[in-house]
Amino acid sequence: MNDQGDKPLLKVDGVSVRFGGILALDGVSFSVAPGQICGLIGPNGAGKSTLFNCLSRIYECGGGSIAFEGQPLSRLPRHRMAALGIGRTFQNLALFRTMTVTENILVGCHSRYHAGFLRTMLSLPGTRKVEDFAATRADELLDFLDLRGVADRVVADLPFGTQKRVELGRALAARPKLLLLDEPACGLNHQELESLGELIRAVRDRFGVTVLLVEHHMSLVMGISDKVVVLNFGRKIAEGTPAAVRQHPEVIQAYLGGEHAQPA
Ligand code: ADP
Ligand code: MG
Repeated sequence: MNDQGDKPLLKVDGVSVRFGGILALDGVSFSVAPGQICGLIGPNGAGKSTLFNCLSRIYECGGGSIAFEGQPLSRLPRHRMAALGIGRTFQNLALFRTMTVTENILVGCHSRYHAGFLRTMLSLPGTRKVEDFAATRADELLDFLDLRGVADRVVADLPFGTQKRVELGRALAARPKLLLLDEPACGLNHQELESLGELIRAVRDRFGVTVLLVEHHMSLVMGISDKVVVLNFGRKIAEGTPAAVRQHPEVIQAYLGGEHAQPA
């Protein structure tokens, strides 16, 4: 799992984004190989969310380009992101709060597979089999994410940590090739935090998904990432294994005196 071997799944090439007088991203380049877990870290205001928003086409890049499986993202409409194989979770959750856990996950299945498309693909006569297909996928995810016991509960009634697993389930239901996780540790209790790293690795191994992880929680990022990209003031200041990045002088400098202290 390195950049030399496989063709990258994601290639970020000289990406710049300007907001008025602020250069939020300044020529950022890196790539992520299939199956990698890539951590994206940096102090507040470094440009992490901006990059994430470029990847999900919420913002357009002012300069540079992003390619997914060799295809420039800028040529693809935003609503095609899920169908293309890019899924994401949000820092502040984005679930259908009055729907059940199962229903939320089923929405994820359908965000990728429209009935018409699936019917054609599977050469099936009606929508019935499509529903079966989605239900099987949802079933698998309920077990995998330990949500079986709350499958029929309304999402709004569940603890935050459980809701976050539902959101992960919904993202996975669309069978993404690339999963963008936006601060998945945010708001979790200590116990949930402990198991999150294991869960993210298990997701990668089980579903063969590539993960790009924005996270403030250093020990989580350093513990599970194959490689880490560090941004500061919109520029990439380091990229490498967690061990290498942790010792990088510019990284230590960037975090000195910052609210998150040094990368542990
Ligand atoms: P991070 O997620 O690493 O904390 P951001 O990507 O949110 O950083 O922000 C990078 C810089 O861009 C910051 O200076 C921020 O204030 C600015 N910025 C981000 N989004 C906007 C926006 N929509 N309008 C104006 N400035 C923005
Ligand atoms: Mg941010």
